[in-house]
Amino acid sequence: MTTATVTTTPTTTTAIINISSLVTNDTSLGKGPLGLIQDAAVVIDGDRIAWVGETSKAPATDNRVDAGGRSGLPGFVDSHSHLVFAGDRTAEFNARMSGESYRAGGIRTTVAATRAASDADLEAGLVRLVREAVRQGTTTLETKSGYGLTTYDEARALRIAAAQVDEVTYLGAHVLAPEFDGDPEGYVALVTGEMLDACAPYARWIDVFCERGAFDGDQARAVLTAGKARGLQLRVHANQLGHGPGVQLAVELGAASADHCTHLTDADVDALAQGDTVATLLPGAEFSTRAQWPDARRLLDAGVTVALSTDCNPGSSFTSSMPFCIALAVRDMGMTPDQAVWSATAGGAAALRRTDVGRLTPGARADLALLDAPSHVHLAYRPGVPLVSAVWRRGVREL
Ligand SMILES: [Zn+2]
Repeated sequence: MTTATVTTTPTTTTAIINISSLVTNDTSLGKGPLGLIQDAAVVIDGDRIAWVGETSKAPATDNRVDAGGRSGLPGFVDSHSHLVFAGDRTAEFNARMSGESYRAGGIRTTVAATRAASDADLEAGLVRLVREAVRQGTTTLETKSGYGLTTYDEARALRIAAAQVDEVTYLGAHVLAPEFDGDPEGYVALVTGEMLDACAPYARWIDVFCERGAFDGDQARAVLTAGKARGLQLRVHANQLGHGPGVQLAVELGAASADHCTHLTDADVDALAQGDTVATLLPGAEFSTRAQWPDARRLLDAGVTVALSTDCNPGSSFTSSMPFCIALAVRDMGMTPDQAVWSATAGGAAALRRTDVGRLTPGARADLALLDAPSHVHLAYRPGVPLVSAVWRRGVREL
């Protein structure tokens, strides 16, 4: 394996050659739904992909990196995470693994710690997790607020997030703030009023935890409608812990994604199949709460677009590893390795309504990973093994 050190500047072209098998997610470039190319090369120009094809046909460039027979794929697009927080919920996890069940209310433990943390501590925690994700091949990240639950703390979280990640989501409606116990309508009024005004400038998205123990269908509709009126686009935490109105609401209101989708009726699946809302599955949450797996096979068979994401958060899924989620999806959710890899890259991009990431095609952002393995299938075949051995993000070598 050769790992040349390359310094890339925006005016430099670099060819990565001798990639044994490359996932492009562009069916016009290669074979099958993943657009696979054997013995491939990728040319990076600044922060963009300039050329993709067979190594033997690669154009001349300023620099060359020999992949030495490793495989390649677009950087993972992790479209659902909660990375702005302080504190730790080891004890809760330990208790759950000793027999207690997961409830949405545990979020308040993190809320108290997050409110008490300094800006610098929140930023340092976020940066640490972003670096951790990048080392595992993630090159596009969405993250949310939702551990502040006051106007000041929610806006603060989003301001910190906006400086570090690609996509920022306002999740004031994560759980009821403790100050509003017994007054959910009062809290929804805050989330859709003053808090929304303070948060909208930092966010592209608005999200709501539509679940028993969090927000019901009417409250979720009020939150999403208010966000939409302020120009935010919609995503929904839906049908994680039980059946509920979240998925249908997401489709009805044109949300980009309904996230979790663990407990679905046939009508929910039909709605997803007929709308353009992506179903984002978050198997780290089921793993970490010993819950029933979402049925990816059922969704795929119905023609639903499926994304995979980590849901990285300190309570119910403290993993930043997309390869881990791919392995779970293949082992326990009925996905083929090809489908899981597509969902973790192009699927995540679809869930964020992005066309510039999640694929390796001329003009796309130069985000890719190399694996110490002959093909992407090894992500599921060799679970838990750190196969990601090189990462470029926006054309810059980060690993
Ligand atoms: Zn979440």
